[in-house]
Amino acid sequence: MALVLVANSESRAGIEPARRVLEAKGSALDAVERGIRPVEADLSVRTVGRGGAPDLLGNMEFDAAIMDGRTRRAGAVSALRDRLHAISVARQVLERLPHVMLVGKGASRFADEVGIKAEPLLTEQARAAHNRWLETHVRAEDRDFWPDVPLASYAWASSKDYAKAGTTAFIAVDVKADMAVGTSTSGWAQCYPGRVGDTPIIGAGLYADSRYGACVCTGVGEMTIRTGAARTVVALLKAGARVRDACADALADLSELAEGVLGPVVVHAVDTSGACAVLCNQDIGRDSSWFYWTEGMAEAALRQAEVFGGG
Ligand code: ASP
Repeated sequence: MALVLVANSESRAGIEPARRVLEAKGSALDAVERGIRPVEADLSVRTVGRGGAPDLLGNMEFDAAIMDGRTRRAGAVSALRDRLHAISVARQVLERLPHVMLVGKGASRFADEVGIKAEPLLTEQARAAHNRWLETHVRAEDRDFWPDVPLASYAWASSKDYAKAGTTAFIAVDVKADMAVGTSTSGWAQCYPGRVGDTPIIGAGLYADSRYGACVCTGVGEMTIRTGAARTVVALLKAGARVRDACADALADLSELAEGVLGPVVVHAVDTSGACAVLCNQDIGRDSSWFYWTEGMAEAALRQAEVFGGG
């Protein structure tokens, strides 16, 4: 099987570093981590790492995960505060712990333990956007008491603007035909504090099994958690589905959700022949574009996801 790299629209800064790892016969796991780190550092990406968006309280908390399709080992962190390279903390969870996922204070403690230091990551621009959001959305009667007011209605208000979310998501296939997936995000802007999206949830936002295929999802994490979207895609590949049909099936499941927060989802998948499919449930233009590279290509190509209505 050929080397393959698939990454979503936010991931431009990481394509070349990830590709170099694969071309040097490095592992898919290393390629994914190496790809995501520059995106976390890329100020122009407003939904990941530095430059990302805060929660309702103005705190910078990050979700990230990585999974090795060869062993099905995985590492994930959620509500990890003030760490630029959440993906590397997730990688160290995979490498050093008997656990799959750490959250909050435990994740911070572990980040310290592996030498990934806390640093201020709320940029002036993100702070200004946050303050503008509060000015337009916080009701007059709550202003004097903010943030010591019930926040649930504000979480709903923030969920109305899907453009405020985004993730960096990678799939890599290495020289040994092993697959890995990885994701990292600051999550939904102005979400309820402690909100966990699909980005760190193995089986929802990502899944890899080198025997069958790999999948990463972006968009409304609440939806892909509810349907177990990434695991669904890989299970369908195991059952013999073609990669495009497996993605379409996962989107059909999503299309049947009628309640709760609903919005765009993009499903990216690769099978063991190296065939790729990227489908989304609604037309979100360039936000559903994706990068594809395989051996023999001088550079990654930017493609557009297929819009699949479901049903
Ligand atoms: N899936 C991410 C989350 O739910 C956001 C996104 O990819 O747009 O946090």
